Amino acid sequence: MTSNVSEQARMYIGGAWVGATSGRTMRVTNPATGEVLADLPDAGREDVWRAIDEAAAAFPKWAGSLAIERGRILRRVYDLMTERRDGLARLVTQENGKPFEEAKREVAFATAYFSWFAEEARRVYGEIVPPPVPGKRLLVLKQPIGVVGAITPWNFPATMVTRKIAPALAAGCAVVLKPASATPLTALALARICDDAGLPPGAFNVVTTRSGGVAGQAFLDHPAVRKIAFTGSTEVGKRLMAGASEQLKRVSFELGGNAPFIVFDDADLPAAADGAVAIKFLRVAGQSCICANRVYVQASIAERFIPMFVERVKALRVAPGFEAAAQIGPLINTEILEKVDGLVQSAVKQGAVLLAGGRRLAGGAYNTGVFYAPTVLTNVREEMDVAKEEIFGPVAPVMTFGDEAEVIERSNATRFGLASYFYTRDLRRCIRVAEALEYGMVGVNDATGYTHEIPFGGFKESGIGREGGHQGIEEYMETKSILIGM
Ligand code: NAP
Repeated sequence: MTSNVSEQARMYIGGAWVGATSGRTMRVTNPATGEVLADLPDAGREDVWRAIDEAAAAFPKWAGSLAIERGRILRRVYDLMTERRDGLARLVTQENGKPFEEAKREVAFATAYFSWFAEEARRVYGEIVPPPVPGKRLLVLKQPIGVVGAITPWNFPATMVTRKIAPALAAGCAVVLKPASATPLTALALARICDDAGLPPGAFNVVTTRSGGVAGQAFLDHPAVRKIAFTGSTEVGKRLMAGASEQLKRVSFELGGNAPFIVFDDADLPAAADGAVAIKFLRVAGQSCICANRVYVQASIAERFIPMFVERVKALRVAPGFEAAAQIGPLINTEILEKVDGLVQSAVKQGAVLLAGGRRLAGGAYNTGVFYAPTVLTNVREEMDVAKEEIFGPVAPVMTFGDEAEVIERSNATRFGLASYFYTRDLRRCIRVAEALEYGMVGVNDATGYTHEIPFGGFKESGIGREGGHQGIEEYMETKSILIGM
């Protein structure tokens, strides 16, 4: 693989590297420096349609191939991604901004979806069911759903893609991916790897476009698309779901979150403070759906915990991603910065107290990109927007609570239900609270996030369906019952 992005300056349809029919292009820039990285095709509806046609043409053969053979190809993708890890990570840092070390960890994590689903491809079992009457046989089969339209966001340019395409390809589906317009280069590098690994032309296609709506509508309209797999905002997810109802297309959605992070009075406080910093600030500068969004501290330990947390936050180093010391990179664009800063300033106006950060960083390298100081707010109240909305930035609103029942009720009082975390040393409380939180993921004394082996997804308005685990491949399969008269 090369880090020369111009070699990737085409999109990938039907196994060929092509431009947009219209000749239009879109620009990809580095959010830390403003540097132009590439001018890529800006696909229109006709290009997306063609990619779907190519996927539909490739589907029967790919679906009919042996699972062990699909697994072998996915395993080669894993090997090539591992070999090219640093080049991929460079692209992630260039287009997304996150620190290079973090990008390397992301790429390693993204890569492992290919090994997991290469193995899972062989374990899609059917059933033979005892018949209720003599002279019959009943079989249940799992079959690939068909062509999948996949749409991914910019915060994890590698993981968001592999978490969808690895299970879809393992199941035998053909995929058309529309990556975020801010971060399409990593997706194109993955297409190059799939091609090098011997994936048949058309089984995986990448269309680049600045109009998510055009791609989404083509996925909704084209009858060959049987499923839409989307990761992004709840608002766009709702629009896609309404559109999908026209042809009753299958959907799976990974959407927004508003994660509570609860520190009980019997917790290991330094471990909780480390966990809160990691899950709030050290994932794409807080621009992650599973980032802690509300930190709840039991009132009796607030005076001990909060200074410990603030001290760690103040020590964080914000810098462009290729600087060796960088722990937090830039925000993706000024729109996000304005939203994040707006939430902070409005909270302060309503009585919240700033203990760290609370401003855009300026001067030196900060002048070329969009950098925000890691921020801690106390005296936050539930009715403030900073507690109600997904912040998507390096801001931790801290609130205190009295007892377990109260904090569970407050944690669940949101339309979201993706990730949640709590720290305690009481085993019975571990079980009680984990069972009571209405979230797809609960980290108990653990703030490292999900992993490949378990299903990941949201309750309520945080999503539909699951990615990862053995469930991840099921999302790309239909169940067929066969009745045989003997
Ligand atoms: P977004 O605006 O919804 O965009 C996500 C993707 O959808 C991008 O590829 C975007 O294209 C595309 N898109 C935009 N409008 C569309 C439309 N009308 N129809 C079809 N596609 C459309 O979300 P974002 O701001 O990039 O990402 C942040 C959100 O994603 C947050 O809410 C976050 O919580 C959520 N997220 C969830 C998970 C999870 O696993 N649950 C993971 C990561 C992020 P463009 O790039 O061209 O706009």
